[in-house]
Amino acid sequence: DQARAPDYLSGLNPEQREAVETVDGPVLVLAGAGTGKTRVLTTRIAHILATSRAFPSQILAATFTNKAAREMKERIGHLVGGAVEGMPWLGTFHSIGVKLLRRHAELVGLSSDFTILDTDDVVRLIKQIIQAEGLDDKRWPAKQFAQMIDGWKNKGLDPAQIPEGDARAFANGKGRELYAAYQARLKTLNACDFGDLLLHPIRMFKANPDVLKEYHQRFKYVLVDEYQDTNTAQYMWLRLLAQRPPGVPQNVCCVGDDDQSIYGWRGAEVDNILRFEKDFPGAKVIKLERNYRSTEHILGTAGHLIAHNEGRLGKTLFTDRVDPNDGKVVVHKAWDSEEEARAVGEEIEQLQRQQHPLNNMAILVRASFQMREFEDRFVTLGLNYRVIGGPRFYERLEIRDAMAYFRLVCQPADDLAFERIVNTPKRGLGDTTIRNLHDYARARNIPMLAAAADIIDTDELKPKARKALFDVVADFRRWQSLLENTPHTELAEQILDESGYTAMWQNDKSAEAQGRLDNLKELIRSMDQEESMRAYLERVALVMDAEQNADMDAVSIMTLHSAKGLEFETVFLPGWEEGLFPHQRALDEGGRAGLEEERRLAYVGITRAKRRCHIWFVENRRIHGLWQSTQPSRFLEELPSAHAEYDETSGSFGGYGRNPYGQSRFDKQEPFQNSYSTPGWKRAQANKTDATRDNWGNRSGHAVERIGYGESGPRAKTIDGE
Ligand code: ATP
Ligand code: MG
Repeated sequence: DQARAPDYLSGLNPEQREAVETVDGPVLVLAGAGTGKTRVLTTRIAHILATSRAFPSQILAATFTNKAAREMKERIGHLVGGAVEGMPWLGTFHSIGVKLLRRHAELVGLSSDFTILDTDDVVRLIKQIIQAEGLDDKRWPAKQFAQMIDGWKNKGLDPAQIPEGDARAFANGKGRELYAAYQARLKTLNACDFGDLLLHPIRMFKANPDVLKEYHQRFKYVLVDEYQDTNTAQYMWLRLLAQRPPGVPQNVCCVGDDDQSIYGWRGAEVDNILRFEKDFPGAKVIKLERNYRSTEHILGTAGHLIAHNEGRLGKTLFTDRVDPNDGKVVVHKAWDSEEEARAVGEEIEQLQRQQHPLNNMAILVRASFQMREFEDRFVTLGLNYRVIGGPRFYERLEIRDAMAYFRLVCQPADDLAFERIVNTPKRGLGDTTIRNLHDYARARNIPMLAAAADIIDTDELKPKARKALFDVVADFRRWQSLLENTPHTELAEQILDESGYTAMWQNDKSAEAQGRLDNLKELIRSMDQEESMRAYLERVALVMDAEQNADMDAVSIMTLHSAKGLEFETVFLPGWEEGLFPHQRALDEGGRAGLEEERRLAYVGITRAKRRCHIWFVENRRIHGLWQSTQPSRFLEELPSAHAEYDETSGSFGGYGRNPYGQSRFDKQEPFQNSYSTPGWKRAQANKTDATRDNWGNRSGHAVERIGYGESGPRAKTIDGE
């Protein structure tokens, strides 16, 4: 009865309210984006506290990010009025795992001051283990094995449990042994890796039912957000903590959306949603169908797109937010990524002039290399921005390394640059050599590169180091001699190739290596915007100097993956081209499942928008100095004409974008030719709009042929030209 309902319940719709008030027994909220799942979880916690069903310390709540956990705590505070004391068990799976483990470390053979290793530590350790086994760590790279272990841990597998095939796949069948040796070594070091933060508690609970029972008594309520992205280990953990003996209510509430499952590549199991009803019998499944976040057009666009996936549970979504002033989702075309960034920048400035805060705008990219162009543009415009969920482009390891090479070529006295790359990639120039060199340089008051050139003529160094240093000096001399007369982008590429830096990442088998190579390509690509390497370095120095301040009003730039759960008034989605989005790698490695995960990612992207959603694709990406024409993403064809429209004014080239061919390839007078099948949106648009163009604003048969997506022929071109 509404009149007596506490404030925090009054705004909820009946289904939300049911999900909040059904506190006894298992509840699964399965609902689309923006339907208030997170809000339900938050309100549910407030309700539990307000009705004195539990103390804050008796509620276990898992979120996907630390940021989400912080926000949830804040909102609970608002709802119940005043600060919530504690909530010590509200956090990510990992942070809760650490807490459990610190309390009971001895039960898994650790002491409570154990260290948590980061990825670099892990790789170094594994390398030692591989070498200790007498194996060649070039043939069997530590990074690759670290990733295999991570995969096993995501599945909750101990060494004894990994599949035979997996064990055979690495180091001539030594996979299992190495994994066991690694675990033993961690124990000796009193350390654990990220996966252990989940697996150790699971082991501990299984081996010590009395301890588990203690937590069963403590945790009266268990809640999980973004449930669709839990992996097997997290699910095991959850089941252990939330299951109760028959007859005892299992007060667990999970909320999720199968259409937003985007971490399959990291071991997430969307099937956990289906298992829920089996593992928690009598579960109440609640569907929320009203979306509170987005306009009708945004919702209609996202819904139409995701309907192209086969593997779905299927949901309805509607909104009451129907306002004739709401615009459709707009698809824009740009000549290349520079024009794309410029046009997005203009759009943002225009919104800013209409008093829209920058905090309400986000650019969501598929791949992090795409950020560079936007960062550069925003620095030029003086627009504040922040990069969420990762370093800014120029702060990335591989970019800093590459820049150190360029700096040293341009400024031979740059000792910091020298020290950064003299042994990257590995050249056998160890700490002792560097220290010798340092002393030598300091004693003579000369830069280290100059000292290196001197010292190779002396016998201060061991022959091997001398030879390695000789090569370094010769390389830099050669590059310096090319500085004036070789086009600087060419030289940059040459430097990275000849130094072995590119090869270092090519030989790296880890998952992030390809991303780093993409970033390096993007770096080189971006250099042609400046006259020279020196001018380029200067501009980057300015970009690096741009402030990154949490309180300022700023546009957010992030990957689609890290945008999960968030919302913004205006969302920009650049780079909707075949090969980039859907990403070629997802297609190559995942096939149909990979494509569907990409489509879910597109759904996540669109549904972040509350009022305005702008999608972009470019016609050309420049890779290794070569123009590659691209094909618009197939997802664009899956957008409904009722809710999405093509921006007819975008992609005009006269004096706006750069055209490497020197003239417009798109002659307005030529008749529209449609030589390929145009399902869905594309055809609808074609009928509706100017018949001399296709939907992408291409105005000649020539253009259609070039960018056309159809049945004829394979999709040959990919953005990274692989
Ligand atoms: P996602 O799937 O993207 O994580 P979600 O289902 O978790 O979305 P929320 O973020 O909880 O959705 O809610 C989306 C927006 O709708 C938020 O701004 C929230 O405050 C608002 N909202 C949710 N329920 C209501 C309601 N009953 N009345 C008004 N606004 C609501
Ligand atoms: Mg949410």
